[in-house]
Amino acid sequence: MKILIVEDEDAIREVEKAYLARTGYKIVEAKSGQEAMIKFRKSKFDLIILDLNLPGKEGIAVCREIRQISTVPIIMVTARVEEIDEIIGLEIGADDYIKKPFSPGILVARVNSHLRKAKRYSIKINGLVIDPEKMIVVKNNKIITLTTTQFNILYTLATHPGKVYTRDEILNHAYDKSLPPDILDRTVDAHVKSIRKAIEADPANPEYILTVIGKGYKFHE
Ligand code: CA
Repeated sequence: MKILIVEDEDAIREVEKAYLARTGYKIVEAKSGQEAMIKFRKSKFDLIILDLNLPGKEGIAVCREIRQISTVPIIMVTARVEEIDEIIGLEIGADDYIKKPFSPGILVARVNSHLRKAKRYSIKINGLVIDPEKMIVVKNNKIITLTTTQFNILYTLATHPGKVYTRDEILNHAYDKSLPPDILDRTVDAHVKSIRKAIEADPANPEYILTVIGKGYKFHE
């Protein structure tokens, strides 16, 4: 696994490099946005750690440019928390952020988590193809698009057909943890409803995601 670290401050870059190299990742360093793009185009990376505040080409511009050509996971590092919604929003397209100053342990944990997610494989089940790389579902040769959360719920359930997941377990597996928990809990049922509408021939009599009364949901075996 190869990671590109883009950071102009030597001390921070050294710490990031030391901890990630110790975890077993190959590290390539860039001190500016321009250098990052040159190195990015030359080689294949599994993840990018990208400082927001760079001399010359800013982190946001680098992120936008990479997003036009790649879906590689990008973790932004920033002290400017007020811009985070924009950074991880659709327009700029980072996958996550870490707030400066951060502990190296947090950086390693986030990197591990994103690389685990990125390694998810396609599932073919009961006439559906669920492709986590492209985040799409294919049924009868038709592409069905879901939101990220809906996709993650479907993927979680379909990975273990027949296994009953409680709403809490679904939250743990499928949700963006940065959202407030009270909002999350109420929306599991709403998301399942939307998924059924998208993938079921008859959403009132689902064939894929089944309700287990008093417990939660399961994917049809
Ligand atoms: Ca900087």
